[in-house]
Amino acid sequence: MPAYDLLCYGCGAVANASALGPCAACGEPMSIRVNGRPPDDAFRVRSASLWAYANALPIARADCVVSLGEGATPLVDAPRLAARIGAQRLSFKNEMANPTGSFKDRQVSVGISHARELGIDTVAVVSSGNVACAAAAYAARAGMRAILFAHGHAAPGKLAQAAAYGGTVIRVDTPSAQAVFELCIEACRAFGWYHLSTAGMYEPFNVEGAKTIAYEMYQQTAGDLPDWIVAPVGGGGLLGGVWRGFLDLQRWGLIARIPRLAGVQASGCAPLKKAIDLGTPYLETLREPWLNPRTVAGGIADDILFDGHTVLPAIRTTDGMALAVDDEAILEGQRELAATEGLFCEPTSAVVVAALRPLLATHPGARIACILTGSGMKELSKIAAQTPVFPMIAPRLDALRTTLQGKRS
Ligand SMILES: [Zn+2]
Repeated sequence: MPAYDLLCYGCGAVANASALGPCAACGEPMSIRVNGRPPDDAFRVRSASLWAYANALPIARADCVVSLGEGATPLVDAPRLAARIGAQRLSFKNEMANPTGSFKDRQVSVGISHARELGIDTVAVVSSGNVACAAAAYAARAGMRAILFAHGHAAPGKLAQAAAYGGTVIRVDTPSAQAVFELCIEACRAFGWYHLSTAGMYEPFNVEGAKTIAYEMYQQTAGDLPDWIVAPVGGGGLLGGVWRGFLDLQRWGLIARIPRLAGVQASGCAPLKKAIDLGTPYLETLREPWLNPRTVAGGIADDILFDGHTVLPAIRTTDGMALAVDDEAILEGQRELAATEGLFCEPTSAVVVAALRPLLATHPGARIACILTGSGMKELSKIAAQTPVFPMIAPRLDALRTTLQGKRS
């Protein structure tokens, strides 16, 4: 049996692994479907990294794997926030615990391992920051070169982090992520680089790592999965990948039913919500990019659904939901999660917190797990305006007492 096939979620067509590119029958991008399955132990004991599930990933040569111990992140119960918002159960898959501070390490670890199998020594990505950090770190780990194209929504703190790993950061002067993609793809063709962007419509290997979030959640809940899984959506590769992970678990006979999947966007850039509300087929959504994306959640300010071919069926086939939340609610969600549960995520991740009350309003008492995609430590400047003025006191107990009394009143 071949290691993997290509599968079209648009029409169900299956093709040989060598037929990379759009589906011959319907034109949607094809996705990888690996034919192996992880050993039972991988679902019984906590793994050391996502490579515990290597049999479900499309990398044949173990000597080409580039790893920093990504994945195997904690699933953290959030009882205090659950009580505040009326969830029967609430937990957070803490992807901030990945080596560079975001879930993109999963995607990049698998993608760059594929580049190494192909014998390519330079990788290039389009990024708002987290993919650039991951690509630069994993390229450093592999002794490879990373070219990082930053689009208009890139966060300065993340670009500084990416540069620290030795990556070459190039800012491109356009508000359109799609325009930067076109440049990156052209450069990869011209210079023989591997295109490592986490956009499944261009390179399906680079979104395979997200499947392992589903496998880990199955292991961490001992199969007692929540009713809903809530994740931020930019291009859609995360939620589409998690869905594909659950499809694997179903195919292997481990689960009967896939949790309902909710994708959350910022109201200033919500092409997924628009497509779900209008019932738009995937290829049609590509013809109308979101004009002028504006949001504090820069990590999901994608003007088109680069993984709409998986994230749209993920929501449509699980009786799921698309939500959009405004910037004020996002920043309040970031603050509320940090102050009630000690989990400090970036604004892009905090969209899931902002979405909890609207979701519970229509589905009271639901059991929910959220995916917390990236660390708040990367973008401290974004909360500067909310930070209080700190009191300065003399080094004396009476001065401390006066200040604390003033705080209480
Ligand atoms: Zn098709």
